[in-house]
Amino acid sequence: MKSVPLRWLIVTPFVVLTLISGMTMFFMSSVTISSIANSVGMQYIKEVEDRIYDRVQDFMAPLSHIIETNLNAFSHRPELLDDLTPLASRFYEQATPYNQMTFISTATADGRYLASAQDPINKGKHNIAANFMDKPLTMEGFEYDPVHHIGSKILSDATFSYDPRGRPFYQDAITKGSITWSDIHPYYGYPTLGIGLSAPIYDQTGMLLGVTATSIALIELDEYLQSLELVDGAHLFLAEENGTLIATSEEDALYHQADGVTTRAKLHDHPNKAFRLASQHLTAGTHQLSETDQEYLYFVRSISLQHGKNWVLGILIPSAYHKRLLTDYTQSTIFITLVLFICIGLIGSLIAWYIGKPIQLLNQAANSQNIKRIQTLPHPLSNVREINSLGQGLSSMADNLFDIMQNLEKKVAERTSVLQNENSSLLENALTDELTQLYNRRGLYQALELALTNAQQSHQPLTFVLCDIDHFKRINDELGHTAGDQALIAVADNLKNHTRFSIDIIARYGGEEFILVFMNTPVTQVKSRLNSIRDHFKDNPVVQNHCITMSFGVVHVEEGTAISTKELIERADRKLYQAKSGGRDKIVI
Ligand code: GH3
Ligand code: MG
Ligand code: MG
Repeated sequence: MKSVPLRWLIVTPFVVLTLISGMTMFFMSSVTISSIANSVGMQYIKEVEDRIYDRVQDFMAPLSHIIETNLNAFSHRPELLDDLTPLASRFYEQATPYNQMTFISTATADGRYLASAQDPINKGKHNIAANFMDKPLTMEGFEYDPVHHIGSKILSDATFSYDPRGRPFYQDAITKGSITWSDIHPYYGYPTLGIGLSAPIYDQTGMLLGVTATSIALIELDEYLQSLELVDGAHLFLAEENGTLIATSEEDALYHQADGVTTRAKLHDHPNKAFRLASQHLTAGTHQLSETDQEYLYFVRSISLQHGKNWVLGILIPSAYHKRLLTDYTQSTIFITLVLFICIGLIGSLIAWYIGKPIQLLNQAANSQNIKRIQTLPHPLSNVREINSLGQGLSSMADNLFDIMQNLEKKVAERTSVLQNENSSLLENALTDELTQLYNRRGLYQALELALTNAQQSHQPLTFVLCDIDHFKRINDELGHTAGDQALIAVADNLKNHTRFSIDIIARYGGEEFILVFMNTPVTQVKSRLNSIRDHFKDNPVVQNHCITMSFGVVHVEEGTAISTKELIERADRKLYQAKSGGRDKIVI
């Protein structure tokens, strides 16, 4: 099986995990981001819309609340309408908590009218209007007085006759027979729109007693929409169901008056292009609007007021808003994923380096076939306990091995030296004759081969002599074998004394036969030496009183002549035979 480097083993799972997690994260975040992007626009819209919806409901709620309270009171206690004056305090107290509450009024069936009127622009400025104080149907204005309900007169126009029974709020209420809304209209003398709610008052028998009404200024709603901090390019509007505007986030006027004719602003002819686009879709829900250079996410919500009134709330935000968010989210996700990748990669590499590096060192040292590499491994090898312990174990094994090897080398050297000594002595024994300490036959052959080669190479003559003791058998026979041995030793000594040490060769060829090889020696000189040997024998008994003679077969090899050992011996043997057969004690050359 193919082996895998440890570093790869460590790094690969990290890389695989990183890729899997990266892809998962990228996939999930793409899905999440696109859904976030889709919903983020809607979320924003929902947030704004909820705020406006609540604000409109809160703003409009006092109308219904007050009219229902008064209707209930007057229906059950018709006597309250007998004297309208105390109602000034009631209406004043009802209006005080609400800045937007412009009129709270009651008109009776006999034409009397009392209203608490609050300035829609200068908040808190509160007056009473009544048409029954000085003379019937003359409308007058008064300060409010908490004690007398109606205080001092502030406005009087004796010609201003006011019969509420002819007014739309009265007519609408009795026509419908229940609580009813008036049309939105500009307030006379004030730059704001207003809307009213009126209700006919019947007694228990069903007889009409009058009409009670409330009215509210809508300027605050317009100011509220303008005050909302929106994303760039966003627009809001509050309109009636037919697209006539009630409030917008823009500063454009909501109505204009010319020649006594009031024209209210509508979505479809609004100077703002976005509103003109929006006018095409006033059904509740989400719409996409687009014009040449702008796209909008557009949401319409219906706001149901009490007593059957529906308004439309429209919110337009430019698509660029959530598209920019999408880009921001994508960039952050890519950045986070990248950072995550780098971190995981770094951690993986760090672990690989931390674990892999020392193991690689161990591996290289163990495979280097060099104990020193293991012995010189750094200490500590690693901060990982197991790796460090492995390193220490390997080092101490290497130390032990080193000691063992050194001892072994020493022992081998000692043994080798002993064996060399033994070997050389064995070799010597193998080449030496035990009795005479001369070369034996094997020693002779070895030395002779060398001598012949040297003589031939150096062009020197060589003289080969085969010597045999005459009648040696007799010594054995007469004096015993031991004496024979002594005689042989004496003969060897004589021969040795007449040859040159380490130049000439002297050997015991077998029994009582000896061989002398004279190197680079003239024949005459050889002959003279042999004669000296013979002379020595004559004068010196070899054992006890026994003198011997010797016969010599001499072969002289001239310089440069090639001759084999075998031929040399054969030729010498023949010469010796001649000496023996010629009577012994002779030198035959
Ligand atoms: P020749 O003059 O013809 O040479 O007569 P020889 O008696 O010398 O020769 P022969 O070959 O008949 O006898 C040799 C004798 O040498 C026989 C043998 O017992 C004796 N001999 C051979 N080797 C040794 C030895 O190592 N020690 C002793 N003591 N005698 C030996
Ligand atoms: Mg012999
Ligand atoms: Mg003999």
